[in-house]
Amino acid sequence: SDARSLACQITRFGDDERLLVIRDITRLQRLEQTRRDFVANVSHELRTPLTVLTGYLETWQDSAADMLPPAMQRGLDRMHEQTDRMQHLVEDLLTLSRLETSDRQRDEHSIDMAALCESLRSDGAALAAGSHGISCEIAEQRRLFGDQQEIHSALSNLVYNAVRYTPEGCHITIRYCRWGEAGAAVEVIDDGEGIAPEHIPRLTERFYRVDKSRSVASGGTGLGLAIVKHVLLRHDAWLEIDSDPGEGACFRCIFPAARMAAPVVVSAADSR
Ligand code: ADP
Repeated sequence: SDARSLACQITRFGDDERLLVIRDITRLQRLEQTRRDFVANVSHELRTPLTVLTGYLETWQDSAADMLPPAMQRGLDRMHEQTDRMQHLVEDLLTLSRLETSDRQRDEHSIDMAALCESLRSDGAALAAGSHGISCEIAEQRRLFGDQQEIHSALSNLVYNAVRYTPEGCHITIRYCRWGEAGAAVEVIDDGEGIAPEHIPRLTERFYRVDKSRSVASGGTGLGLAIVKHVLLRHDAWLEIDSDPGEGACFRCIFPAARMAAPVVVSAADSR
């Protein structure tokens, strides 16, 4: 009942000297757990009142809006926008809490990445509604083992960000390709305004935004890239971000070789 958690770090000095530092992180871990439980409980408790509020607002907008003076109609619209925002925020907080609970059962299969990338492309095109060009390049045929729903939602965040944070007329490419020692990568590349180097290491922190007002105006919760990072961690994968101001951005999700399935070989007889 009094199990302790220890963190060890070995630092090398010269050829044959080592410094071993052992820290007791039990208290830190308990605090972290308390924070996670608190966020999960609050988010869960907010869900029901928000659903009730949204329900009433929608009913009034559908049935009584025409009878209200314009100022009150605008007020109702604003209230609806804000409750929508809060609902997205609560859902994203609950998603993050679920991802942080490492003992959660995952639903893993081998995923057809070509089909998944194509569905990301068409969802992105629907969101862009003609304002951006979006293409898909498949340079790798192997399937990937993982939780399809989690991977789809992480990659959707990257595509939606590319649409929301680049000006009209930009082009977005979704690319699935081989990476490193037999691993594979999904890249979401845009030719937008790019990101200054000082922001890049902080982008996956919760609520970190380069431009807060732009993120809020575009419906962002500030949790998208934190969700991406956690989904990838749960798949032994990681995110790399390459960008320079004025040069666009590339968000690259790298999956290790252990996650890759053998390519499906289609025989001549099968393809007939
Ligand atoms: P948000 O809900 O604000 O979009 P995210 O965690 O998804 O939160 O993204 C964090 C920040 O990263 C965004 O607010 C935006 O400033 C920046 N960002 C994300 N994707 C891009 C992109 N493709 N180009 C430029 N900036 C981006």
